[in-house]
Amino acid sequence: MKATLENAANYPFYDVIISGAGPVGLFLACELALAKCSILILEKAEHPLSPLKQLPFGIRGLSSPTIEALYRRGLLDELEVPKHLKNPFATTQGPQPSRQAGHFAGIPFHYDNIDTSQWAYRLPGSTDTSMISEMAELESVLARRAEALGVVIQRGLAVTDLQQSEHGVAVQSGDQSFIAKWLVGCDGSRSVVRKIAGFEFAGTEPAFTGYTAKVDIADPEQLKPGRNMTPTGMYFQSQPGYLMMQDFDGGAFHHADKPITREHVQGLLRRISDTDVTISALHVATTWTDRARQATAYRKGRVLLAGDAAHIHSPLGGQGLNLGLGDAMNLGWKLAATIQQKAPEGLLDSYHTERHPIGAQVLDWSRAQVAIMRPDPDARALHAIIHDLMHTRDGATYFAGRVWGVLTHYDLGGGHPLVGYSVPDFTFENGKTLGELMYDGQGILLDLDGHDTLKKVAGEYGIRYISGSVKDRLGVSAVLIRPDGIVAWAADKEPDYSELRKAAGNWFRKQS
Ligand SMILES: Cc1cc2nc3c(=O)[nH]c(=O)nc-3n(C[C@H](O)[C@H](O)[C@H](O)COP(=O)(O)OP(=O)(O)OC[C@H]3O[C@@H](n4cnc5c(N)ncnc54)[C@H](O)[C@@H]3O)c2cc1C
Repeated sequence: MKATLENAANYPFYDVIISGAGPVGLFLACELALAKCSILILEKAEHPLSPLKQLPFGIRGLSSPTIEALYRRGLLDELEVPKHLKNPFATTQGPQPSRQAGHFAGIPFHYDNIDTSQWAYRLPGSTDTSMISEMAELESVLARRAEALGVVIQRGLAVTDLQQSEHGVAVQSGDQSFIAKWLVGCDGSRSVVRKIAGFEFAGTEPAFTGYTAKVDIADPEQLKPGRNMTPTGMYFQSQPGYLMMQDFDGGAFHHADKPITREHVQGLLRRISDTDVTISALHVATTWTDRARQATAYRKGRVLLAGDAAHIHSPLGGQGLNLGLGDAMNLGWKLAATIQQKAPEGLLDSYHTERHPIGAQVLDWSRAQVAIMRPDPDARALHAIIHDLMHTRDGATYFAGRVWGVLTHYDLGGGHPLVGYSVPDFTFENGKTLGELMYDGQGILLDLDGHDTLKKVAGEYGIRYISGSVKDRLGVSAVLIRPDGIVAWAADKEPDYSELRKAAGNWFRKQS
C-alpha cells in the first residue's frame, strides 16, 4: 500500500525526513535530533564511501562559521584529518614569499599581510579561521553523531516522489513509503526534492568545465609547476599526477553523461598546456562547472531545501560545503522549535530571509572569480589589478575576511555592532569557553555583570541563563545568543530591558 496523508496512521510518522546523507543532511539531522526531533534520512547511495570523498579529491576547506559550528557541538575534536593533513594541493615549487592563507581566482593572499585587528570581536584564542578536512571523515563523524542521537539512516533508498498537504509530507522511495511532518531536501545539486516540489532554481549558465584527475604522466617535465593560466584555460599540477584543469567550453562536458577517458584528458591537457605531454594512465577523474543557480525560495509549504539542493556554484574558493553547513546550523533549531510549538511567529521563515542573501553572496563571489579567470585580454587586465589589490594590507584583510567567513553576518536590524554576528568565544575564569557551553544547542543569555533582571527575562522566554566573569570581555556586559551562536542582542552597560525583551521575542516564544 502506498503511503498517503490519508492513511498516514499506518506508517511511522517522523518529525522530519531528510533526503540525502551528505554532510548537510547529516549535520541538519544532528541539530534536529539534539533538539529531540525524530528523524529519518533516506540516502540514495548504498555505501557512504567513494574515492571522490577521500583524499586527495575529498579535500575540503572549512571556513570560520563551519569550524565554529562544529566546535559548538563538540564535533571539531573528533576530526583527525585536519590535525595531521598537509594540503596536497599546495604547490611546493616556486618561491614562497610567505605562508599562503587562501586564494581568489587562484591569486594567493598571505598571512603576514592580514590585519586581524580589524575584526574587533574575534578573540585571539578562538577557533581557527580556516582548516583542511576530508569529506569522507566529516561525513562519518556526522553519521556517527546522528545515529548516537537516534537518527535513522536508510541507505540505498532514493527519494523518488513526494506529496505534501498542510499536515505533512508523504515520501516515496520506489515502492516504499514514509510519512513526516516536514521534508528537507539535502540531496545535492541535482535534487529530486527540489524538482518534484517545484522550486524555481534561477541563475546563470557555466563558462567552463572543471576537471580533477589522478593520472600518470610519462613526461611531467613538459608541464609548468603551479597554477598556469593559458590562452585556452588553466591547468594546475599540485603534486605529480594530481591535475586540475579548466576548459572554457561553456560547461559542455559532464561525467554523468559521458565517461572521462584517458584520451579525452590527454587531448584536453595538450590543448590547454600547448604541449604534447603524454598521459600514460588515468586512475580517477571527475568534472564540475561554474553553473550558478539558487532556489528563489528555500521553503514551499512543508518542504525545505538546504545545501547544494538550494544553491550551486563553482567550487572555486571552496565555499559550497561551508554554505550548506551554515544552512543546516540556521535551519535546525528553527525547524525543531516550530515542530515543538516553541517558535515565535515567523521564526521558520527567517531561515530563507537570512540564508538566501548569504547564498547569493557566495554565488556572486564565485562568478567574480570566473570573470577574471576567462582566457581573454579583458579578464587578464582585471586579474592583474585584483592581484595588486590583494597584495596590499587592506586588500588581503578584505579577501581573508570574505574567504574565511569572518565577516559573515545576518541583518537583524542593528543595535549593538555584535548583533547578527557570531558570538566571540569568551573564556570564563575557570577556563571553560562559551563554545563548550553550547553543546546542548540551547540559546543563552550571558550575563557578565550580574544584572538582577537578566535572569528574570531569561526565565520569561525559557532561555538558559549563564552568569560569570570572562578573561577578555571586549567591553560587553550582556549578550543574548541564539542556538546557532548568532548574537541576537548585546549591551555594553546597563541593559535596556525593553530592547532585550523585543529581541528575545523574535527568537524565543514567551512562556505562558
Ligand atoms: C572538486 C570540488 C571541490 C570542492 N571543494 C570544496 C571546499 O574546499 N570547501 C567547500 O566548502 N566546498 C567544496 N566543494 C563543494 C562541496 O563538496 C559541496 O557543496 C557539498 O558536498 C554539498 O553538500 P550537500 O550535503 O549539500 O550535498 P552532497 O554532498 O552532494 O550530498 C547529497 C547527498 O544526497 C544523496 N542523494 C542524491 N539524490 C538523492 C535522492 N533522490 N534521494 C536520497 N538521497 C539522494 C547523494 O547520494 C548524496 O549523498 C567542492 C566541490 C567539488 C566538486
